[in-house]
Amino acid sequence: MNRPKIVVLGAGYGGLMTVTRLQKQLGNNDADIVLVNKNDYHYETTWLHEASAGTLHHDRVRYDISNVINPGKVNFIQKTVTKIEPEAKKVILEDEELSYDYLVVALGAAPETFGIQGLDKYAFSIVNVNAARQIREHIEYQFATYKVEGEKDPERLTIVVGGAGFTGIEFLGELGNRIPELCKEYDIDQKLVKIICVEAAPSALPGFDPELVQYAMANLQKKGVEFRIGTAIKEATPEGIIVAKGEDETEEIKAQTVVWAAGVRGNPIIEESGFENMRGRVKVDPYLRAPGYEDIFIIGDCALIINEEINRPFPPTAQISMQQGELLASNLAKLISGNSDLQSFSFDNKGTVCSLGDDDAIGVVFGKKVTGTKASFMKKMIDNRALLMIGGVPLTMKKGKFNVFK
Ligand code: FAD
Repeated sequence: MNRPKIVVLGAGYGGLMTVTRLQKQLGNNDADIVLVNKNDYHYETTWLHEASAGTLHHDRVRYDISNVINPGKVNFIQKTVTKIEPEAKKVILEDEELSYDYLVVALGAAPETFGIQGLDKYAFSIVNVNAARQIREHIEYQFATYKVEGEKDPERLTIVVGGAGFTGIEFLGELGNRIPELCKEYDIDQKLVKIICVEAAPSALPGFDPELVQYAMANLQKKGVEFRIGTAIKEATPEGIIVAKGEDETEEIKAQTVVWAAGVRGNPIIEESGFENMRGRVKVDPYLRAPGYEDIFIIGDCALIINEEINRPFPPTAQISMQQGELLASNLAKLISGNSDLQSFSFDNKGTVCSLGDDDAIGVVFGKKVTGTKASFMKKMIDNRALLMIGGVPLTMKKGKFNVFK
């Protein structure tokens, strides 16, 4: 009998967790494992706000996939997936097709702009290493140009962040630390720089403990962030953004940098491949399978799982993606050995820590609230744990965050 072929799409948290566990659990002749990713590197999506602000070099947030896979067991293909054809059991890449016996879809997220005009054209999104590098370069260019042009265009020093959710707040924390450095570098009076966070919901960090939200907002305000909470962005333009003001009025906020951090949806490949979905996310069964397909597993930001306690989907996180990858690898190993007694997925929420820059954070860990340097220390431990789980001690030593005593 031919060896079963497992194809894993995406080398993010979910995909790499699946592959690195599979290569430990399966012998050389048990299965053909194929990993497809558009880059030859993995990036820590949860660190991209740092690379975007310029507080961490983009090379620190990525590592070569070859560092963590065993080439004797995994065939890595660096290509872009363009479509999945579930009925034909095929994956279409730029210039080749792959067949599979088991397919794991772990292609991550894409920005959700909720149909707001101009956002896709005039705003940046923190989506990958290329985007992070562009945002950092763009902000620096604005500061440099402001000086070259004789300080006549203050909009160059205005940065709008759309969204005070997790990503928006973490990016603001980094900006709060980066702006003083940039001002020093480009001889700019820091009072001229505006960082404006526009959030449509009635509170920042919806769902977070209100006391922690207050702490975060107060500390970010001290770092120069102005919050416009309960304010909806209506449009993005080449000059900045238009926001709602009262019932019928609007207001223009001029800014040369607009970063949209207010929403994600599943990878567009999901919709384009015809899976039943909600905003690009597939409501998977307890074994992480796409409805109607015994051989297709969907994990990470492309998957949707309902939190029965509140009857709402779990937010897409690295934590849930990695737990899914871990369980899926063990279930796939069982299937390959002919054991169909699969384990169902249940999310073990170990807590959440939201960074407010390198030196500050808020969070709830094992049910306890933490703030300041203690929370920031925990955040770095969480970041290091992701490296440890996928690449072991060597990767953690190489890429980990050990500046923990700030
Ligand atoms: P990803 O890790 O994003 O990986 C997807 C992979 O698929 C990438 O390697 C990508 O290159 C590849 N890919 C995409 N399309 C294609 C294609 N067509 N062909 C081939 N390859 C493709 N979560 C937390 O738990 N804690 C946090 O603190 C946290 N902070 C965050 C901060 C920021 C700035 C952002 C943006 C997100 C944060 N998240 C956080 C969310 C978390 O990063 C995601 O939920 C997580 O990355 C999802 O993992 P994944 O495996 O689904 O996708």
